[in-house]
Amino acid sequence: MTIFDRISREKLNANVSIKPTQMGLGLGYYVCKENLEALVVHARKLDNFLRIDMEDSGVTQATLDLFFGMHSAHENVGIVIQAYLLRSEYDVRRVLDVKGRIRLCKGAYREPRQVAYQRKRDVDQNFIRLMKLLLDSNIHHGIATHDENMIRATIDYARANRIPKGAFEFQMLYGIRRDMQRQLVGDGYAVRIYVPYGSDWYPYNMRRLAERPANLFFLLKNLFRQ
Ligand SMILES: Cc1cc2nc3c(=O)[nH]c(=O)nc-3n(C[C@H](O)[C@H](O)[C@H](O)COP(=O)(O)OP(=O)(O)OC[C@H]3O[C@@H](n4cnc5c(N)ncnc54)[C@H](O)[C@@H]3O)c2cc1C
Repeated sequence: MTIFDRISREKLNANVSIKPTQMGLGLGYYVCKENLEALVVHARKLDNFLRIDMEDSGVTQATLDLFFGMHSAHENVGIVIQAYLLRSEYDVRRVLDVKGRIRLCKGAYREPRQVAYQRKRDVDQNFIRLMKLLLDSNIHHGIATHDENMIRATIDYARANRIPKGAFEFQMLYGIRRDMQRQLVGDGYAVRIYVPYGSDWYPYNMRRLAERPANLFFLLKNLFRQ
């Protein structure tokens, strides 16, 4: 609540993302829904938007249910779709059917082959397939990636189909590929930066590293890159 108030007071172009497990999903679907709904209602009063992050595949369906359950009453809520999941094209189409706003990312968790593409090439191909569905939808979505090939594919597809630069936004993590963030803004694209917020930054970062140890390598590489 406080962060929505502050964003409004400071007149920032910013919204809030939240993980369902931080809002009580482990305690039960309805506990989480009630907590999230209170936030969405508050955000609505301030003309703001809440994005529900997507976590591991054990909670994909519950997260989508939360989204659909709330979106029917509150349009200022959005969802994340992970391109590595085999089910994602189906989910994208369902979300687009209700005109929901999507952040498309590759997916950050280690998932088994029963539910997720394992090879980078397959994840990238699916990312591009889903990106095209989003850009064709006339709804404002977020394309969340630092992968230059995915960004190039998005720009090329938008250009070829006369989709205006303002019709979508790129999203990147705070501090990662700042060079590319600046370049995109310079070229007239919208770039939204995801900033972890709050006093519990240490457990948050440790969890990110535990989910994907490769992040440690990325982090070190980027420290030297900027
Ligand atoms: C705004 C935003 C929100 C996200 N929300 C979610 C979510 O809700 N659920 C979810 O599962 N995942 C989320 N992710 C993470 C995403 O799924 C990927 O794990 C992550 O973005 C890496 O994939 P990539 O598309 O950047 O491509 P990759 O091919 O993995 O990476 C391309 C390059 O980007 C750089 N890079 C990528 N990630 C990092 C990093 N963490 N640290 C340092 N350098 C890095 C490296 O240089 C790498 O070579 C989010 C990502 C972003 C940008």
